[in-house]
Amino acid sequence: MDYDTKKPEEVEELTEKEDKSLFTKVGKAVVALVLALTLIYFSGLREYFFFDRTSPDLEVAEIESAFELEVVEIPINVLIIREPVSGSQRDSEEVEILIQNTSNLLNQADLELKKTNFYEEELEREEVSEILSGNFLFLEKLSNREINLILVRTLRGLNGVAYPSRNTIIIPDYTAGRDYRTFAHEVGHILGLGHVDDPRYVMSQGERGVLFSEEEIIKMRQIADEKF
Ligand SMILES: [Zn+2]
Repeated sequence: MDYDTKKPEEVEELTEKEDKSLFTKVGKAVVALVLALTLIYFSGLREYFFFDRTSPDLEVAEIESAFELEVVEIPINVLIIREPVSGSQRDSEEVEILIQNTSNLLNQADLELKKTNFYEEELEREEVSEILSGNFLFLEKLSNREINLILVRTLRGLNGVAYPSRNTIIIPDYTAGRDYRTFAHEVGHILGLGHVDDPRYVMSQGERGVLFSEEEIIKMRQIADEKF
């Protein structure tokens, strides 16, 4: 038989190769496990531990206007999604407070959010999943001339989403940091702003910044004039 004719050093070499492939398998399994845990961490666990509902009793102080310009009103068309699992649990008063608090941050640009409509949409769970995947165009109450504010329970680990070409923002009940700060950030995207690094600013990807720069204020007002 074949293996009987092998010299001792050849046998030793074979054993070594087998060890290497076992090591590769274990290595791959460890990498896969780490990847899986990372994914879980960034979606579910991160949300569970770091996301919370902003207290409706929290009223944020108005930030002083930077230039004392004429106030530009931004109309907000509210679509509150009702569904037992993924729908929002906010009531109309909480929505008013969210809009008021966000307006108090936008006051530094003399921008004021004004609620125009408040629709409650009873949906099926699959329809809410569609919305969370960014397919919200089936909603009948969307507006082209206002910012559509869609409210859901969770965005599965995301803090908020803006679709500037559709003037649509989705905000969950559960956010990292305060919900009005998230809303102001997404309004910034609708009004043409990108991200900045400085954590003191609303457009940073941190969770606390409340400021807009002078250039950002000029740009936001210009786009608000064009869009609304
Ligand atoms: Zn952003």
